Amino acid sequence: MTRLLVSAGPTHEPIDRVRYLANRSSGKLGYAIAGAGVARGFDVELVSGPTQLAFPAGVRGCHVETALEMQAALEERFDVCDVLVMAAAVADYRPAERVEGKIKKQAGETHRVLELVINPDILATLALRRRPGQVLVGFALEAVPDLEQAERKRRAKGVDWLVLNEPKTLSADRSDFTLLSESGPLARFEAIPKAEFAMELLGRVAT
Ligand code: C5P
Repeated sequence: MTRLLVSAGPTHEPIDRVRYLANRSSGKLGYAIAGAGVARGFDVELVSGPTQLAFPAGVRGCHVETALEMQAALEERFDVCDVLVMAAAVADYRPAERVEGKIKKQAGETHRVLELVINPDILATLALRRRPGQVLVGFALEAVPDLEQAERKRRAKGVDWLVLNEPKTLSADRSDFTLLSESGPLARFEAIPKAEFAMELLGRVAT
């Protein structure tokens, strides 16, 4: 049975006890891919950042908050999967320190500098230890979609497939997607519901 591992949703990067850095990912696409995996008869595990969504029926996995937690959860599950679909919108940066308690405004304060450090690229790191036969799928969210740049990203991340999409995808129910592989841009989907795209994607990458 094909073992599918999916990441979904945003990550939250804590600033202090009550605040965090986040992004607008809803998790809908990753959850749709996990659900489509079940519909295709795959064994599906989902590693999810914070979302409002319920795990689709038949999907196992876990919830995480930060990029580092997501990395640990995926590393634990990666070696046994046949297909990894990295749909999560992992935060590129996290606050350099997590303040205990709550940061308080100071009298007369007009600025506060928040130092950020870069998060590891989870997908590129996993790709370095892939075993033959494993299929890796990444996403690229670009304000101005550029196929050449997307192909460079696919190579740099060391993945077989890259799905290029736009910021309007983030919480929408349907969107435009371009699917690229080593043999070039393969398919373009316009205004397609995420659930339908999820089935199309798995039909192509997990055969
Ligand atoms: O570099 P960029 O953020 O555009 O890459 C997007 C792809 O890389 C997505 O598949 C995302 O899940 C993954 N990613 C990652 N770790 C990061 C940033 C992105 O795995 N720190």
